[in-house]
Amino acid sequence: MIHSRSPRSSEIPDVHFPVVIVGAGPVGLSLANELSWRGIRYLLVDREEQPLGFPTGEAVNTRSMEHLRRWGIADQARFSGFPPDLRRDIRFRTRIFGHELARIERPSNRQQQLDMSSISPEGAIWCPKFALDPLLRRTLEQDTSKTYAIGWDLISFDQEGDQVMLNLRSVATGEARIVRGSYLIGCDGAASGVRKSLGISMKGRFAEGKNISVHFRAPSFRQAMGDDFAVMMDIINPDFKANLTSVDGSEQWRLTLFARGEDPSGIDPHSLVRAAIGSDLPFEILDTKSWVGHTVVAEKWRDGRVFLAGDAAHLLWPRGGFGTNTGIGDAVDLGWKLAATLQGWGGKALLDSYQTERMPVALRNVSEAASNYAAEASLPVPAEIELPGEAGEQARKTLSDLILETRSKEWRSIGVQLGYVYEDSPICCDDGAPRGPDDPGVYVPSTRPGARAPHAWLASDRSTLDAFGTGYCLVHSGELDSTFASAAAATGMPWTTLALSDPDIASIFQRRYVLVRPDGHVAWRGDNMPSDWMPVLHRAVGAL
Ligand SMILES: Cc1cc2nc3c(=O)[nH]c(=O)nc-3n(C[C@H](O)[C@H](O)[C@H](O)COP(=O)(O)OP(=O)(O)OC[C@H]3O[C@@H](n4cnc5c(N)ncnc54)[C@H](O)[C@@H]3O)c2cc1C
Repeated sequence: MIHSRSPRSSEIPDVHFPVVIVGAGPVGLSLANELSWRGIRYLLVDREEQPLGFPTGEAVNTRSMEHLRRWGIADQARFSGFPPDLRRDIRFRTRIFGHELARIERPSNRQQQLDMSSISPEGAIWCPKFALDPLLRRTLEQDTSKTYAIGWDLISFDQEGDQVMLNLRSVATGEARIVRGSYLIGCDGAASGVRKSLGISMKGRFAEGKNISVHFRAPSFRQAMGDDFAVMMDIINPDFKANLTSVDGSEQWRLTLFARGEDPSGIDPHSLVRAAIGSDLPFEILDTKSWVGHTVVAEKWRDGRVFLAGDAAHLLWPRGGFGTNTGIGDAVDLGWKLAATLQGWGGKALLDSYQTERMPVALRNVSEAASNYAAEASLPVPAEIELPGEAGEQARKTLSDLILETRSKEWRSIGVQLGYVYEDSPICCDDGAPRGPDDPGVYVPSTRPGARAPHAWLASDRSTLDAFGTGYCLVHSGELDSTFASAAAATGMPWTTLALSDPDIASIFQRRYVLVRPDGHVAWRGDNMPSDWMPVLHRAVGAL
């Protein structure tokens, strides 16, 4: 628990950081990468020396991969951590070696990128936290201005004037240290002390179901599965419902039992794994975690100079792999706005737009994850499901049809990944075009203000996304005069332009002029240049 207190000024050493990030989980590390990419100095604090903990997260989605691509590490994520040519199929079975009820086919990490290439230069991948977090950390090693306080606990903080005072304590020695930051970002996870000390509550549905997950190593298990391998297998039988996940495509696995209200903490993990994988395969339990599913979002994401991101701001069912990915989206949105503010060209409204833009995305993703959970929880388990003969076959066929009808959407979520639009954003210029449908399974490229600007290949390995750069980019297929450059220079914003000569790509951008923000979302579009760029650019940098 963090307590707010005012340190005596004589205790404060002359250590000041533009940004202090508390929490070196995937979200804090992503924010550090975004800031580092933009040349912003930060302090990254985590109480854990090796904050890897339990394997909670393998599904890295397409939008997150596009962010990793900007940081130059998408290929490393794709080709490490999980065999790049192993298919990522999802299976539903009565038992691991029992009857197959349904299968959702999904290509390998490598093939997925190729299959997605008409809408993204990247594709979703399977990459365990054990590989992703160290990769995100290794990238930071090249940043000579980085500062880590790993093994340090944030004990309290206090906002004074234009800075935040932080009271840190070394976990190993108990040594106390006070540092100052212009901004504090709480990426400190589900039990966020930063959020609690600000008195910010979560709103939504708490404790909807109790579960237990067991992380185990079974070297011969994958071989025993043979062609039946799946990155995820939902096991459905009259005794239990469970989920088996391949963590690394090799010997590490996670078995999750949905305990449906019973307290699972007394369950023996050995018996659980033994019951699931069969009688004679050797295995070793690595860790066990009891967890509760929530559908909640923080009521406020900012208090003065303190912001929340990732699990500190939203908690959702791990059904669809939206948790880390939503947090990485928070980190990118907040990262460029912090950079703009610290570099002096971001206006006063810019940081406030973080909550306006990201909270609706969190509410949408939390709700989609809850609907995936509900679809899973409501699947009936007919008593005949494991019987041989016609009765069993009929029961399995009925359930199979229901699974394919209600459960496929969890793994067909390209709309969730790429289709969110920052509607009602104060830093985007609404052009009055009607809102499109927000279908979790469908992505339609759009330059509607607030949408992710579309991908198209400019060359065999160069996407429009690669051309946007770190600042604003005016993408144009119409003539450009000097008015944009003069107005952009007057605001101090970093900018570039991208001329589209290919009519097919120009048509994807829907208007002759599209202003793309530093995070790749559209700020403004039009078929003609505005008679005065200043109102457009002032809005885009948050200065209106
Ligand atoms: C079974 C399961 C499967 C999941 N699968 C997926 C998936 O496939 N895809 C996906 O996107 N998401 C998945 N999730 C969700 C995902 O794990 C979380 O959303 C994600 O870990 C949140 O990251 P974070 O960085 O916000 O927080 P965390 O990973 O919790 O990191 C918080 C960090 O803050 C540090 N910290 C906390 N307090 C302090 C303090 N006072 N001082 C210093 N340090 C502090 C902690 O040590 C920790 O390192 C899954 C979750 C579960 C439970």
